[in-house]
Amino acid sequence: MRIGVLKEIKIQEYRVGLAPASVRELVARGHEVWVEAGTGTAIDFTDAAYAAAGARVAPSAAEVWAGAELIVKVKEPQPVEYPLLRPGQILFTYLHLAPDPAQAAALLQSGCVAIAYETVTDAHGGLPLLAPMSAVAGRMAPQVGAYHLTEPQGGRGVLLCGVPGVAPGKVTVLGAGVVGSHAAHIAVGLGADVMVLDRNVERLDILDRELSGRVKTQIANAETVEQSVTEADLVIGAVLLPGGSAPRLIPRSMLGAMKRGAVIVDVAIDQGGCCETSHPTTHADPVFVVDGVVHYCVANMPGAVPRTSALALNNATLPFVGALADKGWRRALTDDAHLRQGLNVCAGQLTHGAVAAALGQSH
Ligand code: NAD
Repeated sequence: MRIGVLKEIKIQEYRVGLAPASVRELVARGHEVWVEAGTGTAIDFTDAAYAAAGARVAPSAAEVWAGAELIVKVKEPQPVEYPLLRPGQILFTYLHLAPDPAQAAALLQSGCVAIAYETVTDAHGGLPLLAPMSAVAGRMAPQVGAYHLTEPQGGRGVLLCGVPGVAPGKVTVLGAGVVGSHAAHIAVGLGADVMVLDRNVERLDILDRELSGRVKTQIANAETVEQSVTEADLVIGAVLLPGGSAPRLIPRSMLGAMKRGAVIVDVAIDQGGCCETSHPTTHADPVFVVDGVVHYCVANMPGAVPRTSALALNNATLPFVGALADKGWRRALTDDAHLRQGLNVCAGQLTHGAVAAALGQSH
């Protein structure tokens, strides 16, 4: 199959649909890969590296759109790309269609087969093409928190690992899912004093076994959350109610009882945040202070490390790209019920129940 990779045009998006190593694997399996010139320049995946991996470097995006049977991207197509989609062309990327009726209409009109990363499932009830980005954000959270705890950044001037004779800083992680467990591992690795809270004791059990003796866990309720948040130097918000807004675990009234210069990294900000005073920020201006507490609320944390993020995403998507290319979309989706969950739009029809319901349409 002829597979196309495009330079992302959404603002501040530097990840790529396929890294050179992925291209090499697909070419070895007998596929043809066309990569738009300059696709990976920002993250040092050079055109020469793609060519060495066996790709044909195409001078323009239009050429890739016109020639490829399967387009592998990162972000949803942008309005200038809508007219380039062709009937029967497979589009495999993050779509996030539910809040985006204009994009949904364009995909329906194009006649393409659109498979969304975010609705592909796995055998454990997880979302395997979202998990790598949660892992990246979770691992970044203690790192950015530690940085913003420094006095020049407005923090309380605490070194998370302490030094001999001085106790380490206290980190409270709210949520022990993908983000929270990765955050806990890194916070423990930094030498902090780490408490993790979740409503689900099974999640805490897994973490306790993994980090036996190096992390404290507590069931989350109003009392334990308040106690742990007000004692913390760094709070990491990593809670999620599937399909809903993040639970508001930190009301504004709790900020006054927190330590001055404490930091909240509200990773759950893309679902509204778990702190009442959170609002989305960007990498260009990531923090603000309310009642003496520093808030870091970047909605696209993996965007700061696009090289690592692109490789992590590629690791997760490549088996599906391989199946789509080897078998064609019909057989690939028939053979794999989890990949089938990714199908959002097919030849003018909305094919995902929850997405169709969110758009107020039938499927
Ligand atoms: P997850 O489903 O793996 O984990 C969420 C956890 O929250 C679960 O263990 C659940 O039991 C727990 N939880 C739910 N309600 C709770 C409550 N009231 N008290 C305590 N625990 C509660 O989800 P995840 O992949 O870890 O994602 C967490 C959040 O991070 C999501 O909103 C996700 O979209 C977001 N995220 C943000 C970024 C970013 O760049 N800001 C990147 C990736 C993910």
